Amino acid sequence: MVTRLSTFFLRTLRDDPAEAELASHKLLVRAGYIRRAAPGIYSWLPLGLKVLNKVENIVREEMDAIGAQEVHFPALLPKEPYEATGRWEEYGDNIFRLQDRRKADYLLAPTHEEMFTLLVKDMYSSYKDLPVYLYQIQTKYRDEARPRAGLLRGREFIMKDSYSFNLDEEGLDEAYAAHRAAYLKIFERLSLEIRPVFAMAGAMGGSKSEEFLHPTEVGEDTFVVSPGGYAANVEAVTTPPLDPIDYTNAPAAHVELTPNSETIETLVDAANENHPKDTPWTSADTLKCVALVVVTPNGDRELAVVGVPGNRQADLKRIEATIGELMGIAGESQVEVATDEDLERHPELVKGYIGPGLSKDEAVLGREARSGVPFFVDPRVVEGSSWITGANLRDHHVFGLVAGRDFGWDGVLEAVVVEDGDPAPDGSGPLKTTRGIEMGHIFQLGRRYAEALDLKVLDPNGKAQVVTMGSYGVGVTRAVAAIAEAHHDDKGLVWPRAVAPADVVVIIAGKGDELTETAEDIAGKLDEAGLDVMLDDRAKVSAGVKFRDAELIGIPTTVVVGRGVADGVVEVKDRATGEAENIALDTVVERVAQLASR
Ligand code: ATP
Ligand code: MG
Repeated sequence: MVTRLSTFFLRTLRDDPAEAELASHKLLVRAGYIRRAAPGIYSWLPLGLKVLNKVENIVREEMDAIGAQEVHFPALLPKEPYEATGRWEEYGDNIFRLQDRRKADYLLAPTHEEMFTLLVKDMYSSYKDLPVYLYQIQTKYRDEARPRAGLLRGREFIMKDSYSFNLDEEGLDEAYAAHRAAYLKIFERLSLEIRPVFAMAGAMGGSKSEEFLHPTEVGEDTFVVSPGGYAANVEAVTTPPLDPIDYTNAPAAHVELTPNSETIETLVDAANENHPKDTPWTSADTLKCVALVVVTPNGDRELAVVGVPGNRQADLKRIEATIGELMGIAGESQVEVATDEDLERHPELVKGYIGPGLSKDEAVLGREARSGVPFFVDPRVVEGSSWITGANLRDHHVFGLVAGRDFGWDGVLEAVVVEDGDPAPDGSGPLKTTRGIEMGHIFQLGRRYAEALDLKVLDPNGKAQVVTMGSYGVGVTRAVAAIAEAHHDDKGLVWPRAVAPADVVVIIAGKGDELTETAEDIAGKLDEAGLDVMLDDRAKVSAGVKFRDAELIGIPTTVVVGRGVADGVVEVKDRATGEAENIALDTVVERVAQLASR
């Protein structure tokens, strides 16, 4: 059926939506694909749905191709399964919770591991039933702290989530490899450049995990690659172990007056001015002790101090990835810089002069300097390294404080921003950092969920075995936004053919029955040839506006039926290249079909 723009539910907008920053967000709203209903929550208009359906179908075809079977769960779920796995608490503020009229607790599912596990437990009982791969394309809800960029980070969004169930590790490896290969095909068909990278398993638990990142400046994730082929999300990068330094002859630490030196820069100046040495002090000689607050899933604010070399920036996201575990907090914690109010509760931490305190020899300061606050260090703070650092005393720093001799720590964590040139953990060369958007994520979950929910099958010996699982996600609505971001120009969207809302738009560019009849005829024949056809038959809309709308909407091919008809030709224009060619009326269908099949 030909889609007639004269009656199609569409209004393109001249102005960008006020809240939009990214081109994809602006264009999807302006071109009439989506409308905002609430922060991070969008309605889909007819044009948007056409693209969404095409993306979903590509995902569906590739999942079916690896033998996965589609199911569909409710989004509204009872709390009990999520309590059994601990995620009701662990998710903290990130889930939408609600109660029914009987005051029973429910949630809007952020992801469905629990339900799939219980479903398989309900239906299957023998190793002969395995392996099984199940998936759904379904709406998820997460009360994201920072919904962003339209569909890229929504609070309601569509995800394809699949789950594999196997008896043993080899089976799980196979399921994981099948999904990995399917994902590469999906993103290729979606015309999204993709880089699979090692990832942190995070709140999902489990072991092996990779993210499928789409490299782009506007991405929220940072990943690294090395010349030797190592690629990882920065959260998963580890620092190759450094050798300890011999400190047998290191002089004793001494506290010095360093007035007005609350930043690393002013500290280095004060050190060089008041306590000069042969080679000047640099920021690399200082240990920056950063006071942080770990916000637990139930909202508690726990203070922690992290020590990093003064020439490096603390990376809150990387710290966030592991600090909760070190502090014995279950679930996903958020890490923030401590506020003055947080610090007021710990007067022993003097803002601008915070130090590691003293654990081994408290004589240096002659006072009880070690606070009750947990202290962690970056792996660069190796045993025997010597530092200028805060003395926990206003206007004072301690010089020559030796790690392992003068201070200890409660744990080591990756705490600094990974920089270009840092070494890859596998020795494959210097790392280079790039930004990207996470489009998909695959996990080997192992037995965490099956154990928590008691999913067992009988093995060939008749013994009950806990099943091993994988979980695999693709951001479907996020993909629509990412494709729009990757494929647009200053005139509008430029959809790749596989997901475009139509193959071709036929524009009636002028008045008179002859033009209208010719355009109707071409549109009808293109439709018969199996193409998705739009016909811009809007009366009282100028040809100029029709051209502009066609470019804004981003249909791959435009057929302009205008003045040339008198000479027996129409113009066929390619949205991506801007190239236009005059084509004889009797070959136009053939030509457009040829373009569409490329
Ligand atoms: P992120 O790190 O971006 O918050 P995540 O790691 O929490 O994502 P997963 O739980 O791995 O996400 O979900 C699988 C996929 O769902 C992601 O790879 C992403 O493509 C998509 N996704 C996750 N959160 C959102 C969201 N808020 N809006 C749109 N898509 C999302
Ligand atoms: Mg993820």
